[in-house]
Parts: sequence; structure tokens; C-alpha cells
Amino acid sequence: MKCPYCGYKESKVIDSRPAEEGSSIRRRRECLSCAKRFTTYETVESLPMVVIKKDGSRQSFDRSKVLRGMIRACEKRPVPLAELEKIAEEIEQDLQNSMEREIRTEAVGEKVMEIAEDARAELAAQASEEQAWREDEGS
Ligand SMILES: [Zn+2]
Repeated sequence: MKCPYCGYKESKVIDSRPAEEGSSIRRRRECLSCAKRFTTYETVESLPMVVIKKDGSRQSFDRSKVLRGMIRACEKRPVPLAELEKIAEEIEQDLQNSMEREIRTEAVGEKVMEIAEDARAELAAQASEEQAWREDEGS
């Protein structure tokens, strides 16, 4: 970020805060050469995420579709819907945080199974804990 007064390239950030409801960041900078202060705005880009299907076609990432797929995959497993919704959100977050903007459907599927497996193990642990607790109560 060049100084608008002297053109020097180095500046230090003295303050930064979100602007426009968090879609951009406003930074106060101080030029390391002339010490004049200026403001810059950095926009956080929200790029679309794309899912590549097995036949090579592309589709924009749709959380509700992922959720539907998960419900189908977990039909016979005791994962509550709220848990599945949380997982779908996590997947979306993961994608947004990674530099990858494209994901293959297989990778989505793997991720779903991975997280669903964790959730299931957690639920199973909870259930057996409750069971043990009940048995303790009974004795
Ligand atoms: Zn300057």
C-alpha cells in the first residue's frame, strides 16, 4: 500500500476496524517515511463455491443440498437433524476458509461421512454414559 503523499511503499497499520457491516476492513496507516496518516479500505471478497460432480459438471455449492445428502446417508443412523445442520455449516465454513473454491462431490461426501462418524461416536459415547449412569442409579 503506497503512501498517497510521498509514494513510499512501507506503512504501519495503526488501527483497523470492520466497515460496511464487516464486508470491508478500514485501516488507518502511517507512512514509515513521511509519517503522514492515510486510510485504506480492504474488501473481503466472497467468492462463489463450486461443487464438481462426477460427470464433470459444475454446480454452485448449496448447503441445503449437502444437508439433504447427509440426511439420506444417515437415514439409519442416530444423528439428530440439528447435528446434521451443524455439520453442513461446518463444511461450508471449512470451504470458505480454505483457498480451494472448488470441491468434488466425492470430497463433500467423504467430509460428511468423516464428521457424521465423529458425531455418531460422540452420541454413542453419550448414550453409553447415560446407560452406565442409569445402571449406577439402579444398583
Ligand atoms: Zn509518506
